[in-house]
Amino acid sequence: METVLRGIAVSPGIAIGEVFVLDDQRRRIPRRLVPASQVPDEHRRLDAALAASISELMVIRERTGKELGDEAAKIFAFHVGMLADRTLTRPMHDQIDRELVTAEYAVFTGMTALAERFTSLGDAAFKTKVDDVHDLSARVLKHLIGEHTTKLASLKHRAIVLARDLTPSQAAAFNRSQVLGFVTDTGGRTGHTGIFARAMQIPAVVGCLNASVEAVEGTPVILDGDSGLVILDPEEKTLAKYHAWQERRRLFSVSLKELADLPCVTRDGMPIDLQGNIEFPEEIPNILSSGGHGVGLYRTEFLYLTRDSQPTEEDHFAAYSQCVKLLDGRPLTIRTMDLGADKYTQDQAENPERNPMLGCRSIRYCLQNQPMFKAQLRAILRAAALRPDTVRIMFPLVTTQDEFRRARFFLNDVMEDLREEGVPIDSGIKVGMMVEVPAAALCADAFAHQADFFSIGTNDLVQYTLAVDRTNELVAGMYNPASPAVVRLIAHTVRAGRDARIPVSCCGESAGELEYTMLLLGLGLRTLSASAASLPALKRLIRSVTIEQCEVVAEKAATFDSDVAVSSYLRDVTRKIIPEAFDGRAVDV
Ligand code: PEP
Ligand code: MG
Repeated sequence: METVLRGIAVSPGIAIGEVFVLDDQRRRIPRRLVPASQVPDEHRRLDAALAASISELMVIRERTGKELGDEAAKIFAFHVGMLADRTLTRPMHDQIDRELVTAEYAVFTGMTALAERFTSLGDAAFKTKVDDVHDLSARVLKHLIGEHTTKLASLKHRAIVLARDLTPSQAAAFNRSQVLGFVTDTGGRTGHTGIFARAMQIPAVVGCLNASVEAVEGTPVILDGDSGLVILDPEEKTLAKYHAWQERRRLFSVSLKELADLPCVTRDGMPIDLQGNIEFPEEIPNILSSGGHGVGLYRTEFLYLTRDSQPTEEDHFAAYSQCVKLLDGRPLTIRTMDLGADKYTQDQAENPERNPMLGCRSIRYCLQNQPMFKAQLRAILRAAALRPDTVRIMFPLVTTQDEFRRARFFLNDVMEDLREEGVPIDSGIKVGMMVEVPAAALCADAFAHQADFFSIGTNDLVQYTLAVDRTNELVAGMYNPASPAVVRLIAHTVRAGRDARIPVSCCGESAGELEYTMLLLGLGLRTLSASAASLPALKRLIRSVTIEQCEVVAEKAATFDSDVAVSSYLRDVTRKIIPEAFDGRAVDV
């Protein structure tokens, strides 16, 4: 019987295939004893399994490096580092000697104890570490006892992977010619899994509650990454609708390719600057070929998230200069580390906060960790000197004017140091801020006298305005960028920027979603920055509307008193202009 499960769409596209349930890695290994004479064998087995796991991880690291870039690959260096760490493996050997147990039991208990230690700290910030430990445990056990964890290798073609959760290493290990998409029971829009899915351009749905439990292996399934649906055992007519939608989608994207070399202007001649959001420098060629004219948001915290040690100034410099080279004179906005909340360093993971979304994150964290901040700023200034006037610095989560002033003073000091050292820098570099906290939006007129530019981060602005955790699947239905409160804050920020004659852009996810484009242009935005996959359709829509039309839409949107009413109005007007992006969808959006 057809069953429709709802989750959160994190990577667009439709996949039609068969369910492949990736087992929960947390199985129990029974305690088995070995005769004392067999103990040396158990030590050898353990060492061999650790060595095999390490070489396997190195292969994955190399492949990920080629496909997604060095930064993405560093997570596997972290995994290798863990398995090579004697403080983790020595107690396993000790247990074999002491208790005469099998190597697999020693691995199981050692890894379980480590995971429990992380869990007992009771903070969401440790969740990723716990997943890493389970992932590593499963990998080593596979080399000791084979079976179940080799399941990924037994993937058939056209598999749609359903899992309770996926670690980045599992997601990256997928063979893209076999895995059509993936679904997880847990997660929110900004988790690692979604980011990997988008970078790999594989449709994905997360936060799908019990999907991996309800689904039966081998059952036909439709994954709708546009609407966040998973349809188990679909009826013939549902399948037919989705096949038709897939075909329309394909034709639509072919038609978008024709626009690649045409300017991004509205019908009445207003140029709109489309830029791309990136996490890794390797995404730049894709941004450019999708119609992006530069990078409007480089999320540099991924330099931290994909390794186990702090990046050095030279690591930062290598990444930024690679971007400058790839962009070849086009604009690059480097956002300083937005660490904390759901994106944390090793140090932060060791000291979890009770309420990290409201805690020491982003610019707050940087101002409290100045050596680390300094290394990044030095690298940005040096890379900017390679192509003056193209690089901008942007501070995230600025909430008070004092905070912005402190960050700017700190930057001035760093510039002074570099000048004294005789290091070339771009002295005229523009310094702006994300507007992603209601406090900043409400005081945008005051901030506009200090900042050289604003970029509106709707992802956080929505979260903080509506008090809805953007990563929590339980309140995902309340997360709405078209909420009248958010619209007013955007309008106020754009006006403040215009009055002070500073550029204002939008780089939150809504900048890439067609239903918000007319509203954003109508509110006065002229620069939008979004992921590569959303740029071609955005350009098509922009070329089909006039600014006057958009202004009417923005005025009308401001008259509604409910989020749902604004959303459906925006969808309806957009749909009239670009029906191909909506009509024929198997599920009405
Ligand atoms: C935002 O908050 O809108 C934003 C672009 O930043 P991030 O998603 O990285 O928090
Ligand atoms: Mg943000």
